Amino acid sequence: MHDLSRIAPLFDMRADFVHAYPYGSGHINDTYCAWYDLAGHRIRYIHQRINHKVFKDPVALMRNIERVTRHALERLVEQGHPEARRRTLTTIPSVDGHAWAIDPEGNCWRTYPFIERARGYDEIQSEKQAEEAAKAFGEFQKLAADLPGERLLETIPNFHHTPKRLEALEQAIAKADPQRREAAKAEIEVAFAREDDTRRVTDLIESGEVPERVTHNDTKLNNVLLDDVTSEGVCVIDLDTTMPGSVLYDFGDMVRTACPTTREDEVDVSRIGLRLDRFEALLRGYLSSASSFLNQTEVDHLAFSGKLLTLECGIRFLTDFLEGDVYFKTKRPGHNLDRCRAQFAFLKAIEAKLPQMEDMVQTVSGKVANMV
Ligand code: ATP
Ligand code: MG
Ligand code: MG
Repeated sequence: MHDLSRIAPLFDMRADFVHAYPYGSGHINDTYCAWYDLAGHRIRYIHQRINHKVFKDPVALMRNIERVTRHALERLVEQGHPEARRRTLTTIPSVDGHAWAIDPEGNCWRTYPFIERARGYDEIQSEKQAEEAAKAFGEFQKLAADLPGERLLETIPNFHHTPKRLEALEQAIAKADPQRREAAKAEIEVAFAREDDTRRVTDLIESGEVPERVTHNDTKLNNVLLDDVTSEGVCVIDLDTTMPGSVLYDFGDMVRTACPTTREDEVDVSRIGLRLDRFEALLRGYLSSASSFLNQTEVDHLAFSGKLLTLECGIRFLTDFLEGDVYFKTKRPGHNLDRCRAQFAFLKAIEAKLPQMEDMVQTVSGKVANMV
């Protein structure tokens, strides 16, 4: 717990600090909601301490965020959007004019206006939410698509480079405790049987068929704030991993997180299936905002992207299990292996329905094209 009355003066708030408290259910940064008094009116802001163990260069990360959010705001204003400042995060400058401030302990902080009358949901409750969130992520990519200037910094290099994730697994197997290796035998086989899949998107990026774009890279439902009244996706938040990537990583992770029939850490793998209705809702939402800039190869790989990101996530849990649970927080012995099993059960559910998913992609993209 930090004393926010000492953080507030680092920013050019132009209002008086009243009080602050820890806010939201994020796992990475320390997030606070802070109330301020502006000539008798109460307004609130989000102050966040960036986790510099995960993000080694918080200032470079903030430079990315500053560029992307400034560009998004410019575009929204140009388009005459009536709620431009509610549709993108915007950074409040520090007293010395940066998009971040460093406290006396060396922590890096940032401040955003609080997006009112909207919230993020930890668990998906309806198809409408899936559709609106996917639409918002598509809009975010669209706003960032023509970002001028040099390439954004990769805040976590090779984040979605699946072949490198498989290499890391190989190394972990070589060094693993023999008991753990034995326990994970079946899962190791599942991963290596899909070696060709791990290369598919990176090969398409290398050949230029899939372009590198500005992508979000953490497309969970709770990273979009949905309007309290209309449920519309209002603002994409949590931009720490916004960097060069493929849109397929963003869409694939939406499929991975929004389409399983159970929670992410379900231990009864027989209950894990794929919700096609959710997949269709994601497609409807995403293509309604993104189809204007996607190329055909990207569209043709949307169903596969769900498989790829699920495989990749399973590989990461498996690697961590073999390395002795060093990266993901665990609550019980074998937790990471259970998580891997859940991902791989979902992977198999996707594989079983992939032809139907591919058909849905063609049908929905055809409908969206006819509407334009
Ligand atoms: P994660 O575990 O998803 O990586 P994180 O630690 O990076 O989370 P954020 O997602 O950036 O943190 O923020 C945590 C929570 O704070 C969000 O889920 C959201 O509820 C809330 N939040 C963040 N920014 C804003 C904002 N500008 N306005 C309103 N609420 C916000
Ligand atoms: Mg978040
Ligand atoms: Mg985050």
